[in-house]
Amino acid sequence: MLSYRHSFHAGNHADVLKHTVQSLIIESLKEKDKPFLYLDTHSGAGRYQLSGEHAEKTGEYLEGIARIWQRDDVPAELEAYLSAVKHFNRGEQLRYYPGSPLIARQLLRDFDKIHLTELHPTDFPLLRNEFSKDERAKVMKADGYQQLKSQLPPLSRRGFVLIDPPYEMKTDYQDVVKGIQEGYKRFATGVYALWYPVVLRQQIKRMTRDLQDTGIRRILQIELAVRPDSDQRGMTASGMIVINPPWKLEQQMRDVLPWLHKVLVPEGTGHAKVEWIVPE
Ligand code: SAM
Repeated sequence: MLSYRHSFHAGNHADVLKHTVQSLIIESLKEKDKPFLYLDTHSGAGRYQLSGEHAEKTGEYLEGIARIWQRDDVPAELEAYLSAVKHFNRGEQLRYYPGSPLIARQLLRDFDKIHLTELHPTDFPLLRNEFSKDERAKVMKADGYQQLKSQLPPLSRRGFVLIDPPYEMKTDYQDVVKGIQEGYKRFATGVYALWYPVVLRQQIKRMTRDLQDTGIRRILQIELAVRPDSDQRGMTASGMIVINPPWKLEQQMRDVLPWLHKVLVPEGTGHAKVEWIVPE
């Protein structure tokens, strides 16, 4: 089942959190003068038109990126992320939102590598076109979970894996844990970042318990909620679970999350948290 289209949600509060964490991890890995692999298992289309029918229909970006991209009090932790967003929006108007592959494309260096997979029959060709002239990139119509076996460890022995499934199927909550286990078995020093939505809190509690049971250490959880947990339909919060986070990430997110929460949720509902699911 591939009915999920990220174009309905691009630039929402969950993307702001996800892409902030993604950009901070990339910037940290760039501090060493050695190449690394960026592997995006669920890439999406790459670029989203915010004046398009899908984004207009939900208007989610209006309560996300639109609230921060032009403020003049933006914390330093958001600089790399917003520089990528601004690259695609040269004027005053917010017209495009770059998804995770295009944020990586902007931030990575010439000698880094980008491996992207996407299965959707409409989004895959869009993604492939975005990267047709990028020699660093390999874009495949393939199952993202499979890449955690076939693409790891990277030749460079340094890597960042973003796992961002749509959670259309309940099995995704278990598949991500199995996928991480497979990847970790082959490449235990990699940085893995898993995005999750909070729709039903029980699903996330179970997923984090399953992750704890893998025995993997150094697992950091970063979460931004716009509303309290609820049994009603709909996403109240989202988060990133990062395995082997760069040493600065915990403090960076502790510094920037209160600002993000204040600006993205002016009504003050929900919460922001950074905590270790499994420490060192
Ligand atoms: N990572 C993107 C970003 O931040 O811009 C958004 C990705 S979106 C949440 C999830 C994508 O995963 C969808 O485009 C969907 O078509 C794709 N997808 C679903 N199942 C997949 C699978 N097994 N392998 C690869 N891609 C898959």
